[in-house]
Amino acid sequence: MQKLSLQELTALILEQAKQKGFGTQPDEVHVAEKIALIHAEVSEAYEAYRHKKLDGPHGFAEELGDVIQRVLHLAGVFNIDMEKAILQKLQNNKDREWKWDEMHEGHA
Ligand SMILES: [Mg+2]
Repeated sequence: MQKLSLQELTALILEQAKQKGFGTQPDEVHVAEKIALIHAEVSEAYEAYRHKKLDGPHGFAEELGDVIQRVLHLAGVFNIDMEKAILQKLQNNKDREWKWDEMHEGHA
């Protein structure tokens, strides 16, 4: 299977968005709606996982892919380099400590 960078994936997503009329410029999208749709895909991913549907149509993998696709679409519309953003955040988090014992966030 072809391996693509996030920038290459973003370009493909923008190309398809243009063909399908989803908007490729900031003035062609409603950001709050796009954010809500990202939320919707995250919820679909959780529902798929909850029902033990990991693969296939509407499965966990597909829904996580939908999340990434919608994020990259929005990033592409705003010309955001997600590789750079992710690498920067990883660097910022490198020496950050989390107080797990003070949080309601566990490890499954
Ligand atoms: Mg979906």
